[in-house]
Amino acid sequence: MSREDRFDYLEALGALTAEEARYLKTGGLKDMGLAEKFVENVIGYFQVPLGVATNFVVDGRDLVIPMAVEETSIIAAASKTAKWVRENGTIRTESVGKQIIGQIQLAQVADFARFEKMVLAAKTELLRSVNRDVAHGLVARGGGVEDLQIRQIERPDGKTMAVIHVYADPCDAMGANIINQVCEYLKGPIEQMTGETVTMCILSNLVDSKLTRAIVELRGLDDELGLKIQEASLFAELDPYRAATNNKGVLNGIDPILIATGNDWRAVEAGVHAYAARSGQYRSITRWTYDDGILTGFFEAPIVVGTVGGVTKLHPTAQLCLNMLEIESAAELSRICAAVGLVQNLGALKALTTVGIIEGHMKLHIRNLTIGAGASEPEVPLVQKTTRRDFEDDQADQSAKCG
Ligand code: NAD
Repeated sequence: MSREDRFDYLEALGALTAEEARYLKTGGLKDMGLAEKFVENVIGYFQVPLGVATNFVVDGRDLVIPMAVEETSIIAAASKTAKWVRENGTIRTESVGKQIIGQIQLAQVADFARFEKMVLAAKTELLRSVNRDVAHGLVARGGGVEDLQIRQIERPDGKTMAVIHVYADPCDAMGANIINQVCEYLKGPIEQMTGETVTMCILSNLVDSKLTRAIVELRGLDDELGLKIQEASLFAELDPYRAATNNKGVLNGIDPILIATGNDWRAVEAGVHAYAARSGQYRSITRWTYDDGILTGFFEAPIVVGTVGGVTKLHPTAQLCLNMLEIESAAELSRICAAVGLVQNLGALKALTTVGIIEGHMKLHIRNLTIGAGASEPEVPLVQKTTRRDFEDDQADQSAKCG
């Protein structure tokens, strides 16, 4: 479709309002005043293309997925693979747990057993006061600070470090600032009560108490392809070198949604990678198994996002993208991210185990190479055609050489 046709189509689907289409057509956000509020020492906006991935049916719901990303072929691969799944399978998602984690570190405690006993004895009162004085907004929405746990960490010098984990349900916020405030509030009462010294307070991005799962089931595969994808999955499970690239491919599907919706992609990246290394070895964040014509893919990781907070409500393009997804909660957004990440992974594994990644990627990336080489607008299609033919000849030569 032409860009104009895409707008008409998205408006007809109800994914964009006429006003939202007009905003995008006229170049999106230009308000420098807003940029000045978001960050410091502002000199402009850095623009990344915003596209839509199509064909996604997640938990039985048709979705148009907004993706802000600079890398060629991600949106095409997501849409193409989602079509394959739409025609032959399902994508299901679920959330496991609701609590984010704040950490209060006491670098050296004189008597850990005494410290633990005192904090746990005061737990109910600590939770009551922090919910009353800091997290009342979350409590009113059905969330708030729900638990405290104490961890003991042995230091290399033989002394003992204590860490209090503070668990809170942030409702529809990512909750980073809220949980940091909660931890800093608790510092005073904990120091007074125990006589120990708090060193620092900050959330953890390894949120293993709030996980998101996606499951893709695909039927009617031929055995050869199903088994090849299973082998590719095993490679990424066992070898950290492959796992890193596998997980980059999964995040190819997730990060663009995070950026489009104004979410903190560094936080999600940190959480996903840390969770991928939870066994002590960095592993694939996805797993694919093939059995009797059915390929099953599984993703599980923390994807802590907000539909409020940060710039989600302030950046008009982020708001537009959230509207496009028609979601009711942050948990729903994180489940969509997991689904797209897993489908993106499937697309990559299918390509890698059949034609190779270059064929699809370079077919599209040639546009960038042509422009980078200095081709003028009328020259671009001509150069692309020649380059593609040369590239294909090259490939044929290589294949012949490889026998
Ligand atoms: P925030 O500070 O903007 O606070 C969210 C606000 O939304 C709260 O005041 C809350 O009262 C309000 N709210 C309205 N409706 C709500 C609802 N339905 N559910 C929950 N809250 C609701 O945002 P935040 O989520 O506390 O923090 C996110 C920001 O923190 C991001 O910009 C992130 O980049 C940043 N951050 C991240 C890290 C990290 O990941 N390590 C550390 C510090 C800051």
